[in-house]
Amino acid sequence: MALLRRKPVPTGDPAYIVEARGLQKIYDTGKVRVEALKGIDLAVRRGEMVAIMGPSGCGKTTFLNCVSGLDAFDGGEVIIEGTSITRMSDNVKTAYRARRMGFIFQSYNLLPVLTAVENIELPLLVSGTRPKEARRSALRVLELVGLSDKAASRPAELSGGQRQRVTIARALVNDPAIVFADEPTGALDSESAGHLMDLLQQLNREHEQTIVMVTHDPGVGARADRIVRFRDGAIVGEELADAASNGHTPAAAGLVPAYA
Ligand code: ADP
Ligand code: MG
Repeated sequence: MALLRRKPVPTGDPAYIVEARGLQKIYDTGKVRVEALKGIDLAVRRGEMVAIMGPSGCGKTTFLNCVSGLDAFDGGEVIIEGTSITRMSDNVKTAYRARRMGFIFQSYNLLPVLTAVENIELPLLVSGTRPKEARRSALRVLELVGLSDKAASRPAELSGGQRQRVTIARALVNDPAIVFADEPTGALDSESAGHLMDLLQQLNREHEQTIVMVTHDPGVGARADRIVRFRDGAIVGEELADAASNGHTPAAAGLVPAYA
């Protein structure tokens, strides 16, 4: 990873699929007021794989929630594919999320009464896809994550790694342009984590899916094109992967090497 200094990028550049500009988020419970995001500037290039790292409580999950339109924010701007999210109606935002985004969040649990394939096709059925077509898409992504033989298994009959792969298949079933992942390997042993990262990297390279993931595992972070370091609600540093070390052309989103 090479050290970088940050360079401002012009707003609305089509090279960027999602941009945060001076993003601020305050949690105010009446008793306590937490400035969770203190003006985050981050532009993610199409097809880029970005890892967000930093200590617990530094705002990583809050950032993912705000930048993906799941949560409101208090200042700044989020621009998704050229449109400011604050100018989108709730309906448009929801439709955009269903169509273009995938989420691998630990809180997005699988429904225990449904089989793997039923869990995966559910978001498609909810958004109006015909059952036959939904089933076909669900089986396709199950194959992609190597779980074709577990289509009829319920979550309780699967290992932690297999469950996480079902969660990933569900996130990918709509062929999203951008995937947000919050600690995707958090609950996995190192072997399963390695397989999962192989899969995410393959999706990123072969399907040009943009991936924004939060991780505290340096091994996971090292496989991204770029590591963005958060601390106390702010970005405190960035590193760009060496093309040689991960075999992928790094997408230098508004960044120049420190020695340039
Ligand atoms: P991370 O994901 O990096 O561990 P979070 O984004 O979850 O951090 O949290 C950032 C800060 O915001 C922390 O201080 C946390 O306690 C606070 N926070 C997060 N969610 C809420 C909430 N719903 N209400 C109040 N404070 C919150
Ligand atoms: Mg978190």
